[in-house]
Amino acid sequence: MSDLRADTSTGEIPKPRPDKIRCDACPVMCYIAEGQTGACDRYANHQGQIIRCDPLTVIDQRIQQGGEVVPFLNAWDGQLVPDDTLFVTAIGSGTTYPDYKPAPFIVSREIDGADVITVVTEAIFSYCGVKVKIDTDRHLGHEAAIVRAQGEAIGHVMTSEYGSQMLSLGGVDHLTGGTKSEGRVTCDALLRLCNGEAVTLTVDDGAEVIVQAGKPPIVDGQTEHRMRVGCGSATIGMFAAQWQGLVDEVVVVDDHITGVVSEHQAGKVLGWPDTGIRIKGRRSTPGRYFQVAEPGRGWGGTNIEDPLTILNPWLAKKGARPGMSMLMVSTTGEQFAYYILDDDLIPQKADLPTALKPSVDLISENCEPALCTVMFMGGAGGSLRSGVTKNPVKLTQSVQALKTSVTCGGAPVYVWPGGGITLMVDVTTLPKGAFGYVPTPALVAPLEFTLSREDYVALGGHDGAIRSLDDIFAKGGEYGAATRGVGPRS
Ligand code: SF4
Repeated sequence: MSDLRADTSTGEIPKPRPDKIRCDACPVMCYIAEGQTGACDRYANHQGQIIRCDPLTVIDQRIQQGGEVVPFLNAWDGQLVPDDTLFVTAIGSGTTYPDYKPAPFIVSREIDGADVITVVTEAIFSYCGVKVKIDTDRHLGHEAAIVRAQGEAIGHVMTSEYGSQMLSLGGVDHLTGGTKSEGRVTCDALLRLCNGEAVTLTVDDGAEVIVQAGKPPIVDGQTEHRMRVGCGSATIGMFAAQWQGLVDEVVVVDDHITGVVSEHQAGKVLGWPDTGIRIKGRRSTPGRYFQVAEPGRGWGGTNIEDPLTILNPWLAKKGARPGMSMLMVSTTGEQFAYYILDDDLIPQKADLPTALKPSVDLISENCEPALCTVMFMGGAGGSLRSGVTKNPVKLTQSVQALKTSVTCGGAPVYVWPGGGITLMVDVTTLPKGAFGYVPTPALVAPLEFTLSREDYVALGGHDGAIRSLDDIFAKGGEYGAATRGVGPRS
């Protein structure tokens, strides 16, 4: 199995290396010695045969959710079970590079009387990355700011979403378009994020954030517990009635829209009287103010620690009077303060009245837990399609026509409309450790295409390579016969 091709620069024929055999599952083409693994740690030389180190993973509906049994055959015991109980994922299946031959497993199953084919392969994604949603209104960095891991640029800050900051990490430019170190660090960060590990990221002129899929973000050392209930205006709309009769004015401080109940439509509908309050910032519509402060990690995602800094002097002719009370609160209820206007119409801090406490608690109670969401995104429209069909574009057309369903480690994916097979999947829905890498660098992700046998044959599928579940469990594949069963993930 040694490569004895002539060196094109010297014309020399390399000496055979009988102690090593070549792995051809990716373009790196490692020579692997007996008992060793290749550069990606996913393939090994076992008694002169290249094997996949991880077992082929089968999702078994009979196993408790999230549970795992190794090896699979111990759980299976050869009993006959309906085919739709078992789903052969691509995890541990191996890759056929460069895709001139059929995918590692092309599985036939009978489901409700129909013959269904699933083609599985561990796809190598040069074009891939993750989109990260971080539930926090703390300012992580300005839009388009560079995001780094270990000092290397691996992505950037995207457009914020409602209550969340968004990052786009990876992509072909960081993986292969920069320095070797940038590519290596990007690949490492993506792999760890996709496999559910915590990764420390820094944003240029912004925060340090520890991101882990399904866990709360840690921003500058502080664990974020709550996602804001809404913007300041929405908070006024939700809770204005709770405050009526208990306080003269309420200001909900928020980096996006700061709300003022006496001016807001919600207050007007309730007959809330004017108070003569004046807010700094740009008035959008009544009771809704943009840019009351700079973005930051203080109150409501602003940079302020003292909420009074967003107020201009109160106006007596517009209703302000000594003794008037005001509640200022952030959009998570984490920060709140209560004030009484003195004889000079200057707010003086006072204890929060017991009657107002439940309304602040209600804001907190209505906040959802803050989490990090990591969505793997990659383009599967390339050569791997040849492992599915001899006519690759037909696979794309079949996916776009919803005749072929695409899953990633058994998890449903979102396929973007338009050309190619560009997919997104929540990494927490895959079995653990589903992602791998190759040092080119690129990520490896499991991919399954499922369709009827009739459609598979019609799109030019490799029908001669179709195998039954029994045959696969009995004989394994090119890279070994180890299997494991895992329970479905919720
Ligand atoms: S990097 Fe991994 S997949 Fe690629 S040739 Fe080496 S062992 Fe095989």
